[in-house]
Amino acid sequence: MGTVLDALVKLQSVENNLRAARAKLTRSRRNVIIKENELRTFQKSLQAKQEEIQLTKIQADRLELELKSTEQTLTKYRAALNVAKSNKEYAAILTELNTTKADSSKVENQVLELMKNIDADQAQCDQTKQQIEQAKNDLAEIRKQTEEQAKKYEDEIAQIDHQWQQAARDVPAAALETFKRVAETYDGEAMAEIEIPDNRSGIYTCGGCFMTLTTETANTLMSRDEVLRCPNCTRILYIKQMES
Ligand SMILES: [Zn+2]
Repeated sequence: MGTVLDALVKLQSVENNLRAARAKLTRSRRNVIIKENELRTFQKSLQAKQEEIQLTKIQADRLELELKSTEQTLTKYRAALNVAKSNKEYAAILTELNTTKADSSKVENQVLELMKNIDADQAQCDQTKQQIEQAKNDLAEIRKQTEEQAKKYEDEIAQIDHQWQQAARDVPAAALETFKRVAETYDGEAMAEIEIPDNRSGIYTCGGCFMTLTTETANTLMSRDEVLRCPNCTRILYIKQMES
């Protein structure tokens, strides 16, 4: 390899380190986001449960009012029984009274059922509150850890970035522009090594996209220090020097 391609391959190696260091920083910060989301989910579920309890209470209050008014009706029926003028009238009032009583006891059961639901929801709220406390503590701990880690990773990135600037100095301006552009397209992978899977067949392929390359391309790279790009994926091609 000539000096230009050699410098590009070195730059690629630093580029890989730089991307890896940046990825570590991103991953470390992602843990905080995951925990924040978990906390938010608990808070939302608590709020929904509390709203549900409010609605159930309103419903129970309404039924309690209904029971009070029924109680008044029953009192009226009992008074009417005492002043009934005939057996027939007495029997009719008694039937009304018993029907109203039966309906009222159904409503009473409904109220009991609602109260039971409220208790169960309340228990769930208490549990969610504990989970929220736990998640808050975890989040504070993870934030602290992440900040420490981030500082370390940022230092590492700054160091590699410095190496990158130095390696870039050895690459001619036009080649460097090409390198940067292709690196952006392929998540940092600007260079592709030409692969020779079978020497006898003489078929050369691009190590980036595995498309077949012409023998001429391979020959040019072996004899000249030139920036040649894969016609398919546009990566900068190079051939590793045979160990002699
Ligand atoms: Zn290619």
